[in-house]
Amino acid sequence: MNDSELNSKVISRGKEFFSTISGEKPSLFNKGAWMGKVMDWSMKNETFKIQMFRFVDVFPSLTNGRLLTDHIREYFGEEKDMPPVLSTGAKVAGMLGSFGGAVLNKVLTTNIQEMARQFIVGENTKEAVKNLERLRKDGFAFVVDVLGEATLSEAEADLYMNTYLELLDSLKKEQAEWKPLPFSHQGGNAGLDWGHAPKVNVAVKPTALFCLANPQDFEGSVVAILDRVRIITEKVIDLKGFLCIDMESYRHKDIIIEVYRRLKLEYPDYPHLGIVFQSYLTDTDKDLADMLDWAKQKMIQISVRLVKGAYWDYETVKAKQNDWKIPVWTIKAESDAAYERQARMILENHTTCHFAAASHNIRTISAVMEMAHELNVPDERYEFQVLYGMAEPVRKGILKVAGRIRLYCPYGNMVPGMGYLVRRLLENTANESFLRQSFAEDAQIEKLLEDPVVTAERERAARALKLKPAEKGPGGLKPFNNEAMVDFTRADHRAEFPRQIAEVRKQLGRNYPLFIGGKEVKTADTIPSVNPANPAEVVGVICQAGTREVGEALAAAKAAFPVWRDTAPAERAQYLVKAAAIARRRVFELSAWQVLEIGKQWDQAYADVTEAIDFLEYYAREMIKLGQPRRIGNAPGELNHYFYEPKGVAAVIAPWNFPLAIGLGMTSAALVAGNCVVFKPSGITSVIGWHMVEIFREAGLPAGVFNYTPGRGSVMGDFLVDSPDVSLIAFTGSMEIGLRIINRAAKVHPGQANVKKIVCEMGGKNAIIVDDDADLDEAVPHVLYSAFGFQGQKCSACSRVIVLDAVYDKFVERLVSMAQATKVGPSEDPANYMGAVADDKAMQTILEYARLGKKEGDLLYESAVPTQGYYVPMTIIGGITPEHRIAQEEIFGPVLSVMRVKDFDQAIRWANSTQFALTGGVFSRSPEHLQQARREFRVGNLYLNRNNTGALVGRQPFGGSRMSGVGTKAGGPDYLLHFMDPRVVTENTMRRGFAPVEEDDDWVA
Ligand SMILES: Cc1cc2nc3c(=O)[nH]c(=O)nc-3n(C[C@H](O)[C@H](O)[C@H](O)COP(=O)(O)OP(=O)(O)OC[C@H]3O[C@@H](n4cnc5c(N)ncnc54)[C@H](O)[C@@H]3O)c2cc1C
Repeated sequence: MNDSELNSKVISRGKEFFSTISGEKPSLFNKGAWMGKVMDWSMKNETFKIQMFRFVDVFPSLTNGRLLTDHIREYFGEEKDMPPVLSTGAKVAGMLGSFGGAVLNKVLTTNIQEMARQFIVGENTKEAVKNLERLRKDGFAFVVDVLGEATLSEAEADLYMNTYLELLDSLKKEQAEWKPLPFSHQGGNAGLDWGHAPKVNVAVKPTALFCLANPQDFEGSVVAILDRVRIITEKVIDLKGFLCIDMESYRHKDIIIEVYRRLKLEYPDYPHLGIVFQSYLTDTDKDLADMLDWAKQKMIQISVRLVKGAYWDYETVKAKQNDWKIPVWTIKAESDAAYERQARMILENHTTCHFAAASHNIRTISAVMEMAHELNVPDERYEFQVLYGMAEPVRKGILKVAGRIRLYCPYGNMVPGMGYLVRRLLENTANESFLRQSFAEDAQIEKLLEDPVVTAERERAARALKLKPAEKGPGGLKPFNNEAMVDFTRADHRAEFPRQIAEVRKQLGRNYPLFIGGKEVKTADTIPSVNPANPAEVVGVICQAGTREVGEALAAAKAAFPVWRDTAPAERAQYLVKAAAIARRRVFELSAWQVLEIGKQWDQAYADVTEAIDFLEYYAREMIKLGQPRRIGNAPGELNHYFYEPKGVAAVIAPWNFPLAIGLGMTSAALVAGNCVVFKPSGITSVIGWHMVEIFREAGLPAGVFNYTPGRGSVMGDFLVDSPDVSLIAFTGSMEIGLRIINRAAKVHPGQANVKKIVCEMGGKNAIIVDDDADLDEAVPHVLYSAFGFQGQKCSACSRVIVLDAVYDKFVERLVSMAQATKVGPSEDPANYMGAVADDKAMQTILEYARLGKKEGDLLYESAVPTQGYYVPMTIIGGITPEHRIAQEEIFGPVLSVMRVKDFDQAIRWANSTQFALTGGVFSRSPEHLQQARREFRVGNLYLNRNNTGALVGRQPFGGSRMSGVGTKAGGPDYLLHFMDPRVVTENTMRRGFAPVEEDDDWVA
């Protein structure tokens, strides 16, 4: 049969399908009921939809009447202004007004619970089993799934697994009593459903079986998931059931495929083990073909459930945020067409692969039916599946035509159920949803049944017409865009780290000179830089500048300054763009150096390098903009031009914690603004500092413009700061040193031409507030990451978590359990969540604070650590109040204080109660509290409902005030201004009463 004949058959089958269910509506779209009304209103009003779905999301946390009333008001306004769909129940009860709050609470609670029940087959095993039996009586088979998505600890993963085991035990007992679902084909097995299918069929969400599932630690994740899947599998096999491994977000796709393959190899003869593929992923054609080839090669039977995919919005947003290739098709019909293509691939291989076609789309279902028919696929090799609670007419229709259908039935309690419910609500109300178009909008049947290949082509053509020409940024460069994050879903990115670490290891122990006036300079005084996870491993031996060499570097910078100052800003910017390209080419290698020299985890190391590249690209563009003199004022006969001039020689003093990003950030800002730089890296990351020399040298920066002078602070630090030749000091580091620099720089020395300008970023004592309605599934992992990522050695790291009394115990229990699941060890092994701290001195200071914390508060958790290397345990201390020293002093290490407060006002007061004001975070789903935090939580960078580290150049310009710094914002539009002096030139253009008409911006400095 050719494609067009097949398509005609699909369309006629679809039309027949529609005619058999004509007049019927899925209960979701039944406007007679509350849920149908809410769906209808949501589809007409996007703002209401967002508020409603967000409210559904927060609903399980609203555990008392006050919280519920407050949130209803905050989300939907006062009762009188509320959309009728919400207040109807209360109005019917005649109770709006003074008693209305309580009635409204009751009405909404009842209705939301009912809405959840629509999709959830039961809240406990007994209820689920009873409802599954009822479904079987109506002729439907089931696949049951335990709700539970964000598992945060080993205990939660065990609980999830044990719920399956308990469920399977109950089902084992019950199944003997169940009459098999009927079959019509010859030779079926009378004990099985439809003569061939196990009666018990379960689906598992693999990431719920391991709380740290993460592609960065691919092997560790596969092994940990497999350990628990295996236990469930054995029970499934014992009762001769079916197990399917669900597919989740793209991030975990390859892990899940690998788990399935290894599981199949462990049970090669058991045919009833399946996996899900998602047609909306552009990878799936290849993944599926590979899986089929693999199964044939291993001569094993597999089973595939094909779905379009449930996380489309998430995948597109996440990819755009990280500048990754979007992993899903972006035209809906492309997913539909992929589904049909892949369904054919499976059906053609039906002797190897059993097929579960999961869709509510009548075109899709009809296509599968016709293709199976055309390929003579026996009934027992394919089946249809739909979600419980959705598309009732469709499931009835399939039962009638195919004689077999399976419903996917989630069960479990409401809290994890809400994530599932929100996904279903989104799916049903999406503009592109087949169900919405068919049953809520009565779209034309012809359009609904059109061949998706044709629809996709038409939409691609329409999209091409709307394409706008590429935007131009300053100086003809591409507009600034953050460098893409490392993508560990890519096998090549995962492989690159061990490879580059091995390469870098071959180069360890080299000697590194200074770089002054374009020349390498060696000194007799050297210090080694070591791997903090293994101090016996010397990363490099670095020549130290003394005052003589610093003097030479200052002289070289001073000599280079006039020409560099007068180089056109756009030309200076080009050096930065070249440097960015060099760093980009070397991104993995530069990351590997960071893993070994300062103990960054893979992702943290990569993020440091990409941030460095961002600074180069961003400041290049900012300078091109600022380099253009602006005309100001518009009085005739007068021309005013406002422009900037560099200050002179800049001393850049960099920290070790972001050795490339902050070092290159401060240096590139100074350089592009026209200053010449004497750069002092931190003593413990001087090898990384040397890479800046290599980068600028390759970029062709003129001699003397950038000078590299690592050295002992005690010998040359003050000398550099005091020098009369220095006009500007850019510093990032501790408050103690920052204030010392500010103090010393205030003194004017003989011969000094400028008042020294200080650009200074210092410490923080950052807090995250966890509100009583916070989503703990989000708050716990983000707090853990903010506090212990890179061992808590970021100025932005969370060192206090302030938790509202109502959720304190639960939060602490989950935080500690998650911490217990993590490992501490060398950062080069991606299984380790935390590595060694910077050096021996840091280790001693942090350990001292940990000891103090244990005296001031109660130790909630202290991890084990390796015996070799500069390790400090991951430490969590409870019962801390603002009077305690560990609530006030910056520790710069993995010690987290947990503070209990009675309400949100107190949380804000405590959050603001230190001398610092750098970063802060709030986890809350109360719109009023989020608003209050915006106003009153006074920090430089406030993060709402996310982790509070990882600021991005151009998106979250970074820096604090009070004792956290002098208020500059690195990576922001004002930053370069600190490196220049503004000038104004005013010309009287009137000569003898004649004033020319002036054009804007026609004068270039
Ligand atoms: C039995 C069963 C099990 C399931 N298991 C899983 C699972 O393990 N993992 C999982 O992810 N999902 C799973 N799902 C959910 C499933 O992905 C959705 O129900 C399905 O995508 C809806 O597709 P449809 O054919 O019913 O509806 P349709 O309305 O035809 O398709 C909607 C789908 O099209 C895709 N889409 C929407 N907009 C676009 C666009 N602009 N460009 C490209 N594609 C777009 C999305 O995938 C969306 O869900 C399961 C569903 C069933 C029935």
